[in-house]
Amino acid sequence: MVFSGGQDSTTCLALALHEYGKGRVSCITFHYGQRHAREVEVARKVAADFGVADHRFVNLDWYGQLTSNALLDPGRPIVTDAGAACPNTVVDGRNMVFLLVAAIYAKGCGIRDIVTGVCETDFSGYPDCRDVFVKSCNVTLNLAMAYEFRIVTPLMELTKAETWALADRLGVLAYVAENTLTCYNGVVGRGCGACPSCLLRQRGYEAYLASQEGLC
Ligand code: ZN
Repeated sequence: MVFSGGQDSTTCLALALHEYGKGRVSCITFHYGQRHAREVEVARKVAADFGVADHRFVNLDWYGQLTSNALLDPGRPIVTDAGAACPNTVVDGRNMVFLLVAAIYAKGCGIRDIVTGVCETDFSGYPDCRDVFVKSCNVTLNLAMAYEFRIVTPLMELTKAETWALADRLGVLAYVAENTLTCYNGVVGRGCGACPSCLLRQRGYEAYLASQEGLC
């Protein structure tokens, strides 16, 4: 499980534990110079709370030597320019690097399934969150290592509201709402309430709650 400690990642982790069973899920978390080193600590705590025994932390802090963007540089404001395909937080190649490193570790452990919470609906226009990229990367990894990986993306087609619904079905709605970190400003749980990530998360949460009220 490629694990960041965010809403999507944590919901995916709960699902993976449900599907594969406790003791059969390993997590890998990357430090790549993101604004908030706190993200790594949140990931550590969340995985421990879920009883994950095998959790790797991999340092990719060379990222900042190669590219600069608002996620890596705390001095730059996070904005989505009108007309821009994606916000200035996109880190080029990030998911490809994550999947490659996760695959190297997985193969060494005899693991074939690599679970990631990437999602192409609802958000961002990040090119390496798209299904076409993940499928292509899967083929490439299999060729690169002569090994049958299966990249599993349970959230790919879900809206943020549907991801909250999934968390609820798995019994972790309150946990995810209170303990995960999605906010670009490093505020756990509800977040800062103002950054693009918080707005997306909050809108999805409200849409999910509204859909539940409709049922009552
Ligand atoms: Zn925020």
